[in-house]
Amino acid sequence: MSAPAEILNRTEELLRELCAISSESGNATGIRRVAERLERALTPYELTVEIVEEADAHGAPQPVLIARGPSTGGAHLLLLGHMDTVLPAIEPSVEGRTLHATGSYDMKGGLAALCGALEVLASNGTALPPDLLVVLVPDEESESLISGQSAERWSRGARAVLVLEPGQSTADGETLVAGRRGMMEWKLDVRGKASHSGLAYWSGRSALAAAAEWCAGAQAASRRGNGPTVNVGRIVGGSADFVTDLPQHAAMLGSSRQLNVVSDRAAAEGELRFLTAADGQAMRDELERLAADIAKRHETEIVFSVGMHVPPVDPQGPGAPLIQRTVDLAAGRGMRLDVEEDRGGISFPNFIADPSSTPVIDGLGPVGYGMHIRGEYVDLDSLGRRVALLADLLPTL
Ligand SMILES: [Zn+2]
Repeated sequence: MSAPAEILNRTEELLRELCAISSESGNATGIRRVAERLERALTPYELTVEIVEEADAHGAPQPVLIARGPSTGGAHLLLLGHMDTVLPAIEPSVEGRTLHATGSYDMKGGLAALCGALEVLASNGTALPPDLLVVLVPDEESESLISGQSAERWSRGARAVLVLEPGQSTADGETLVAGRRGMMEWKLDVRGKASHSGLAYWSGRSALAAAAEWCAGAQAASRRGNGPTVNVGRIVGGSADFVTDLPQHAAMLGSSRQLNVVSDRAAAEGELRFLTAADGQAMRDELERLAADIAKRHETEIVFSVGMHVPPVDPQGPGAPLIQRTVDLAAGRGMRLDVEEDRGGISFPNFIADPSSTPVIDGLGPVGYGMHIRGEYVDLDSLGRRVALLADLLPTL
């Protein structure tokens, strides 16, 4: 499975150039150089490319690349990627069919694969979908403010969203990503009744004991496999003034002070992760029931609340037919593509405006190893396969 050798050579050279540029998150100058190199690579294919500036989470201007096909009014086909890396670049090196380079796997490989696929289509005289819209962001590896906002904004009304993040290698093939977990942050606030633990132990109502029982029950409600999971990130208990003003009372830790008082206040916070909206809602209901049950038994007051909420991408959702089409196209070229239904980590697909109706194909970039670490590399044969796959897929969309 591959594209013409001279196009693959140029694609590999482009990837090497992109990786030689330091574009760690926050380095606006480096990210702009990446954007300008990609602008040159994309301009020949009837795309109108512009590099705009948007403010990141620190208010600093960062470049965003937007490339539009001739007709992007109304529905459009959105391609998403990021130009930033976690680490600054080192000099790329090639060893056999492996390119050792910063960002080669996550995810300059996906950006180069897109450029290679556009060149393959142009060389065949195959027209691009005229409503193609490519949006490449600068802050996916840091606070993701621009990334999240861009995914949300540009996915509105999109016919489909393609994400150029990398797949993974398996024993006998590579993967695409169909599902991503959603996340809800939660808080638990418990009020009990203080009493002297020597003189009036049984008249106290320990907020700390109630919170601890709830936390143990919440973690135990997590299910292996595709089930939802609950993580208790922090728990604090003691007297009300200790819990509500920790910095002021930090010296109490490790001392004997107030160890003889039944705790009247406790707080816990954490998050839950889930693969379908129904799983998330069911777990949220279960945690609420657990809170009500423990509040009753411990004669305490418990408030369970949910804060930030990121929706999941359901692997059986609207993207499933397109994922199947992609797998079939790959099989037609002798390439085995497995489908990741349950990739952890919040990414572009979690931020799209309406994941319940917009089809998403994620993990279209080439496989490699070592995301975010010094030993990062990409498999150049996989790059060739992804160029061919994207070139096969784009005209069908
Ligand atoms: Zn990435």
